Amino acid sequence: MTGTPPHAAWTWLARAHPDPDHALGLLLRHGRAALPTGGPWDMVQVPETTGLLALRKAHGPAFRDVGRHAVLFLVTAPGGWGVHGTAHLTDGVMVCTPAPDLSAPDPFGAPGPYWLTPPDGSGTLVDPVTLFETLATIGPQEEGVTWCGLCGRPGPTTTVHRPGLSGPGGDVPAHASCATVGIVGGRLHRR
Ligand SMILES: [Zn+2]
Repeated sequence: MTGTPPHAAWTWLARAHPDPDHALGLLLRHGRAALPTGGPWDMVQVPETTGLLALRKAHGPAFRDVGRHAVLFLVTAPGGWGVHGTAHLTDGVMVCTPAPDLSAPDPFGAPGPYWLTPPDGSGTLVDPVTLFETLATIGPQEEGVTWCGLCGRPGPTTTVHRPGLSGPGGDVPAHASCATVGIVGGRLHRR
């Protein structure tokens, strides 16, 4: 198997836009771009905890949108979709999509999307049949997972204080291992 060049995922994402150069510029400058569904991929929006559990079996590009409390899967167009509590996005619906290198939440807690499984540029998408079948096996008893505010992955977490931040927003749930991460100049650095 041959690897794909580092920029492949960027150009692959941008090509979904009618103006790929414009979209690539947005991804590079802002770390995100509104990209249309219904072209190279559709999306399925799933409540975030359910979506994270589904990622164990449904492999392919998926990102978490903190503001929507959702995980969005990039899928090949399903013939139909009807899973309670989820949404099939297609036909030009524009979705704010993160740049391929954005794989953690904003260190200061701003809402925004980041990849849980970034695209690799090969064009691989999530199989909607696998996603459908996986979602059907996830019960409501598995809701209630807590999310680490520092790395953006699920718990177990404890409450830690963000260095340099006081008041509301200073305390975040985080993995014990992530609590050793400090914030310097707005970027995360391992001590
Ligand atoms: Zn963490």
